[in-house]
Amino acid sequence: MSKEELFHALADLYEALGAELPVSGAENACGTCRECCTGTGLNLHNVTSLELDFIEDRVGPTKLPSFRRFLQRDGEIAVCPFFDDESWGCGIYPFRPFSCRLFGHYRSQESRLPEVCVFRGQEQIFQTTAYYRAVPQAEALRALVRRYWPYQAARATELRAPGGGGASSEPWGDALEQALFWQAQGELTRALETLAESDLEQTPYVLYCLSLILEGLGLQSEAARALEEALQEAPDCAPLHFRLACNLYGCGRREDAVTHFERTLDLWPEKTEAWALLGAHHLQSGSSERARSCLLRALELEPANSTYEKMLAMC
Ligand code: SF4
Repeated sequence: MSKEELFHALADLYEALGAELPVSGAENACGTCRECCTGTGLNLHNVTSLELDFIEDRVGPTKLPSFRRFLQRDGEIAVCPFFDDESWGCGIYPFRPFSCRLFGHYRSQESRLPEVCVFRGQEQIFQTTAYYRAVPQAEALRALVRRYWPYQAARATELRAPGGGGASSEPWGDALEQALFWQAQGELTRALETLAESDLEQTPYVLYCLSLILEGLGLQSEAARALEEALQEAPDCAPLHFRLACNLYGCGRREDAVTHFERTLDLWPEKTEAWALLGAHHLQSGSSERARSCLLRALELEPANSTYEKMLAMC
């Protein structure tokens, strides 16, 4: 699916969610206290990269940096930058994220609605482990986010998908989340078996995760094959090129690795490690000038890195 097709699918998903949400009393029962759009309501908000990019695509990039900081709970931005003081409501209402749509209707057992919220006491409460079963369209959103991965993964910030899951959580999600959990626990064989026994579609993201597990098991060639397969479907995915470059370099296929490092940097010029590794390669090959230029770029991006400084001194 193209990026635009995924954005359309997300808009359809939002519409389907709206039709499934329990309506409390009046059509819009919200008392507009604004609490859900402030730091107080933040424990209920997580926004996926797909949704952040969708908002950027629909309303422009101006407020995205402050919205990201707001979502990262840095405490400096108390009210969502998309809150509109004049209309006293969401300034991006048609494009607001999934978690904003759920607010008041659903909450996990561990969270609380603000005291003044008119939905308080009427909301559906779910156990965290039952998130995907309890919340309408949550699984569909997870599937879309994974499909979107090749488009967004080059971004520096990735916020946790609503409902959690992933490597640091208990393995209550689907087979991929379970495999990532076992991987994080160091149980790589179990992680591989979990993926092998599942009927997950081999999307680029699934293949990327598989490659990490295979690499951990020392199966470098198999990991490279998984990455090459993923690149057939997502040829412009920088993280795939970077992982493959590292894999090939480790296997001694240096020229192939350089091709993928260079492709990584075409697509993701801020990828500091790619500049540094390419610099290291040129240094070893005796191309001092090329090494210097790559390492200077790495140091520009990460000025205090003593390893890069030492390598540069060797040029
Ligand atoms: S995006 Fe809209 S609904 Fe969500 S927190 Fe911001 S102002 Fe509130």
